[in-house]
Amino acid sequence: MSKESICQACGCTLDPQFIFCPWCGSPTDPDCFLAERFDPVFERIQNLQVRWTQTRIARMEHDLSEIDRCLSEIVPASETLYQEL
Ligand SMILES: [Zn+2]
Repeated sequence: MSKESICQACGCTLDPQFIFCPWCGSPTDPDCFLAERFDPVFERIQNLQVRWTQTRIARMEHDLSEIDRCLSEIVPASETLYQEL
């Protein structure tokens, strides 16, 4: 004979191994707040994504200024192709 638990939220019987009630979704252990454990992890991942995007933009700015510097060696600033047309 297997033991059964009763959901404190909806009163349905459930397997005691469940951490959430399959009927109403309430946590069977009130001390089990997955969100509190997950939120800091997802926050760190989001910070990594933001940092990666910022460094990517900085690299693009650096590359563009390098390209601009190279092009200015070919075409002096006072003599642009646009003025020749
Ligand atoms: Zn329930």
